[in-house]
Amino acid sequence: KDVINQIAAAEIIHRPSNAIKELIENSLDAGSTSIKLTIKDGGLKLIQIADNGHGISREDLPLLCTRYATSKLKAFEDLQSLRTYGFRGEALASVSYCSHVEVITKTKNDGCGWKAHYADGELVSPKPGVPPDPRPAAANDGTIISAEDLFYNMPLRKRAFKSASDEYNRILDVVQKYAVHNPHAAWVCKKAGSSLPDISTPAGSTSKANISLLYTASLAADLLEVPITVLQPQYLGASIRGWVSNANTNWARRGGWLFFINNRLVDSTKIKKAIDSLYTSYLPKGAAPWVYLSLDIDPAKVDVNVHPTKSDVHFLNEDEMVVAIVGAVQTALSNANT
Ligand code: ADP
Ligand code: MG
Repeated sequence: KDVINQIAAAEIIHRPSNAIKELIENSLDAGSTSIKLTIKDGGLKLIQIADNGHGISREDLPLLCTRYATSKLKAFEDLQSLRTYGFRGEALASVSYCSHVEVITKTKNDGCGWKAHYADGELVSPKPGVPPDPRPAAANDGTIISAEDLFYNMPLRKRAFKSASDEYNRILDVVQKYAVHNPHAAWVCKKAGSSLPDISTPAGSTSKANISLLYTASLAADLLEVPITVLQPQYLGASIRGWVSNANTNWARRGGWLFFINNRLVDSTKIKKAIDSLYTSYLPKGAAPWVYLSLDIDPAKVDVNVHPTKSDVHFLNEDEMVVAIVGAVQTALSNANT
């Protein structure tokens, strides 16, 4: 059973940045306005995320890392109607199957915080002879989750990571994108032991200000706004908005594709290709635009046959959807260039 769970975990958590993405989404789901990450060895030694969200109540701690047993899934019938994307109660379980997890959490209503340790989906003792219960702990409102020794039980997987700095860059890439999409929150990401954060944004910022801070000021100055655009009638309720680079500037750089569906960072090869080709008539060959788009859509219109943890998503009526999204970007470009 553990082998099956480990395989499932490895499918969801390929590398530290996958775990980071899941943990960030949980913190945002909890209504956090401050999210601080501390990383050791590119996340392979330690990932720690501290938020000021609503916290986890004492009763929910024993099953916190059990697959499918999370609170949201109690309302399984509501699966389609929920505005969140990709939740299956698997993320924390997966992290616990490939690392040592410690949770410190406090809700506003609790007088004290609670600390618990997990491995392989279950509560475990912090040290021999100590019962594996959640224990009272000093804590601020919110949650601190630490995942230590990622892939300690998967030596082959662990050996495949050649460079901690490459993994750290992937983590920074994910955090930056979430900070652009969630500028209301304050974000910090730093290496353990370093006093200077690599990412630091103030609460109550804007997407554009965070792009300027985290990418470059010259990129921010070049951006065109895609104002909230409601897509064609058949996608009733679907809308898109964002910021894209101007058509005559080449922003061929890694990480210039930020695409969120219902606030989840995803890939869509089809949409990316279509937008790239919209720019090809303006940009030199091989050049690329910089694109941040946020799509809000009835989750029932996103193809449910695709495993939600696979980041490449598909839509029902995909071709029309691609045309509608490209159309919104094209309008922003032509308004600016006429
Ligand atoms: P899912 O998000 O799909 O429900 P997860 O395994 O990611 O499953 O998280 C399990 C549950 O743990 C969440 O539904 C939520 O109730 C709780 N949780 C996880 N992280 C946090 C957090 N940072 N703050 C508050 N609750 C959290
Ligand atoms: Mg989650």
